[in-house]
Amino acid sequence: MSAVDHERLRQGVRQVCAAFPDAYWRDLDARREYPEEAVAALTQAGYLAPLIPEEYGGLGLDIGSASIILEEINRSGGNAQPAHAQVYTMGTLLRHGSDAQKGEYLPDIASGDLRLQAFGVTEPEAGTDTTSLRTTAVRDGDDYVVNGRKMYISRVQFSDLMILLARTTPRDEVKRKSDGLSVFLVDLREAVGDGLEVKPRRVMINNQTNELVFTNLRIPASSLIGEEGRGFRYVLDGMNAERILIAAECIGNGRWFIDRSTSRAREREIFGRPIGQNQGIAFPIARAHVSLEAADLMRWKAAELFEAGEPCGAEANMSLMLAAAAAWEAAEAAMQTFGGYSYDAEYDVERKFRETRLFQVAPISTNLILSYVAEHVLGLPRTF
Ligand SMILES: Cc1cc2nc3c(=O)[nH]c(=O)nc-3n(C[C@H](O)[C@H](O)[C@H](O)COP(=O)(O)OP(=O)(O)OC[C@H]3O[C@@H](n4cnc5c(N)ncnc54)[C@H](O)[C@@H]3O)c2cc1C
Repeated sequence: MSAVDHERLRQGVRQVCAAFPDAYWRDLDARREYPEEAVAALTQAGYLAPLIPEEYGGLGLDIGSASIILEEINRSGGNAQPAHAQVYTMGTLLRHGSDAQKGEYLPDIASGDLRLQAFGVTEPEAGTDTTSLRTTAVRDGDDYVVNGRKMYISRVQFSDLMILLARTTPRDEVKRKSDGLSVFLVDLREAVGDGLEVKPRRVMINNQTNELVFTNLRIPASSLIGEEGRGFRYVLDGMNAERILIAAECIGNGRWFIDRSTSRAREREIFGRPIGQNQGIAFPIARAHVSLEAADLMRWKAAELFEAGEPCGAEANMSLMLAAAAAWEAAEAAMQTFGGYSYDAEYDVERKFRETRLFQVAPISTNLILSYVAEHVLGLPRTF
């Protein structure tokens, strides 16, 4: 897409988001409720299906353009998280699903008739160490039988389908610990209450996340995506896209903080002059802007490599780490700029502050990115 097309896309997303002002997100945050109306409007505009090819009813955009959509949602004051998984979770199905699976599900995911917004990887005992996960899927005739637990699996209540990573071959029977894991497309409409229990977890932000308990859940063998035992690679394949998209969300949050901070610093007069005239206020905002601009360059570099089909693991991870840190820096600057008002829900800074902190912890923590760079870019010894 050209720069002009990008600008047109930004304007289009802004137009949809304009119907959902701060008060909308603030109110939902207080009630911990799902932004149904915003998600419906974004779906209707096609903005939650940017990466689905046109032949399946999506927009067929590149990753950079898709990232603009999520950036603009966050920059508008909203939160892309309740819907962002609809944009990228289907990647596993798109890249590794059979033609029959793609034909059956992708058009309805593109139209929003089916929501694939749940992605079940994290477990209470395994955490960051994904290949130690204990949820098993054992073949039994035409079914797999799933047992185990997952933790912090978001949006299950607002999804029809979930991508599930489970062990199909015991760890002591495979050569590498990343072997023997498989990916399934679970139909939540059938599973919940019939082998799958969903226990909501209240977290610091308005994110409907859950503990999941699988007790002899039977899923048809046809729900396996790709080859049995190769699921970990399939999930990894989707990670670079997720990193780039979430880096863009961070950039959106960061720019929101800068927009609000600069307006406040110009308008708020204390000691008879705008607070922004004090370098103690202006410099942290300017510094955060510099960090955001640098992070944005890495986001576009990663997006370019991704589109060219080049390896981009390092750049995608670095873009997320830099963008999450820059957004947090901007959040800190906003807190100081708004003073006591930063704590006041009516100013939205405290809400965005909570939402922004997440990205240094999930979907991947900063430590794990540093460990990836140390080992894979700098050739340092493995630490785990
Ligand atoms: C709001 C929210 C929504 C989420 N949604 C989903 C979802 O939809 N699907 C899903 O699958 N998961 C989801 N997660 C889970 C998230 O991906 C994990 O919390 C995250 O990957 C970290 O795992 P953990 O919490 O078990 O941390 P742990 O693995 O317990 O790690 C704790 C800390 O120790 C550090 N650490 C661990 N090992 C090392 C090491 N070797 N070297 C250095 N540091 C180390 C980690 O970096 C981390 O900082 C969500 C989490 C939250 C909070």
